[in-house]
Amino acid sequence: MLQSLLFTKTRKDAPKDEVSKNADLLIRAGYIHKEMAGVYSYLPLGLRVMNKIVGIIREEMNAIGGQELSLTALQDKNLWEKTNRWSDEVLDVWFKTTLKNGTEVGLGTTHEEELTNLMKDFIHSYRDLPIYAYQFQTKFRNETRAKSGIMRCREFLMKDLYSFCRDDKEHAVFYEKAKQAYVNIYNRIGIGDITYITFSSGGTFSKYSHEFQTLTEAGEDSIFVDEKKKMAVNKEVLNDEVLNDLELKRENLVEKKAVEVGNIFSLGSKFSDALDLTYSDEKGNKQKVIMGCYGIGPGRVMGTVAEVLSDDKGLVWPESISPFAIHLISIEDKEGKVLTSANELYNRLIASNIEVLYDNRDVRAGEKFADSDLMGISIRVIISEKTLKEDSVEIKHRSSGVIEMLKITEFLSKFLK
Ligand code: ATP
Ligand code: MG
Repeated sequence: MLQSLLFTKTRKDAPKDEVSKNADLLIRAGYIHKEMAGVYSYLPLGLRVMNKIVGIIREEMNAIGGQELSLTALQDKNLWEKTNRWSDEVLDVWFKTTLKNGTEVGLGTTHEEELTNLMKDFIHSYRDLPIYAYQFQTKFRNETRAKSGIMRCREFLMKDLYSFCRDDKEHAVFYEKAKQAYVNIYNRIGIGDITYITFSSGGTFSKYSHEFQTLTEAGEDSIFVDEKKKMAVNKEVLNDEVLNDLELKRENLVEKKAVEVGNIFSLGSKFSDALDLTYSDEKGNKQKVIMGCYGIGPGRVMGTVAEVLSDDKGLVWPESISPFAIHLISIEDKEGKVLTSANELYNRLIASNIEVLYDNRDVRAGEKFADSDLMGISIRVIISEKTLKEDSVEIKHRSSGVIEMLKITEFLSKFLK
């Protein structure tokens, strides 16, 4: 993509009313637009990062047998009454509205009800199980606080997977697979080393649920971390009994601020009972379907990366989720020789399907570099009169700051492999 055609522009001034670092950087770099508190639009650069995160999550969900679908945002009140979650006293984040005929509907905050009910059409016998279904879908939640930029929104994308199993044993096996898939996701996104599997409250059906908590001062949660064991306990559940249970020692735990970037939860038969989802076993006896749910907010993950990996110059994307693989920058000379070579290089790269943002604008080198630092594309390739004298380009890695000169032929063979 030619940067001269990119309609978003970087801005130097901090956006008004924005207290979070992630939103401040993402707005200034042209990744997102704030509509109102907790409501953000994704612009071309932001959508590219979001889609990369979604792509990684999708691969990991497919690898554990997930089948992707897409459920509706409008929710049937009757279903939610069956699970006793329609009332605003029980679920205080509802956005509700009314149809022209007076029927009340809700905007989905989560999808256990809808999917459990839907599965009644498909789950009858033990042969129909297990089923792992997931989606990337917009959730609506009337959150009280919305001061964390894209980490806490009132409208946000969620990956939610729901598992339907024959019994606790089958559920437990899948639950462990899902846990490992989540570990893979955060590793691939570049925050694995600061993301802790955190024991949290389990609801009625299991002792604990597991949250994936990434250490950051911008987080709203407090967790107690055992760095050696790479385990953590949410402050909400920390007590002597839990420590005993998990074989943790209080003196080895350090309290840290963190953000929940995902969670996995055993649901038992809470929803299948309420909505009457059963199956018949080998002997023809009616049995309970055992469920679990597994959530990740890709936008929250993106905001977290913006918080924890950025520096004083701007965003720093890991290669795996960088909006473009390469930020190609031409520094013009008077004769226009650089432009010809830069155009040629750009065409070679895009012909090989390499994602390149090419800064071909007629602006000062300093401005190009400052913009590039703010935008945070993982690899910068500079072509100038100086580099061309040696038939080379200069490569700068955004994250390490390491600079190397490479012959253009070498550079191409490295990237076009
Ligand atoms: P929190 O305690 O932070 O409100 P939650 O327990 O409500 O999170 P879930 O309902 O389990 O979270 O949602 C699954 C995932 O969706 C979370 O782990 C998080 O990554 C993401 N998520 C939840 N709420 C929001 C939000 N308001 N904005 C953006 N992402 C969110
Ligand atoms: Mg919440």
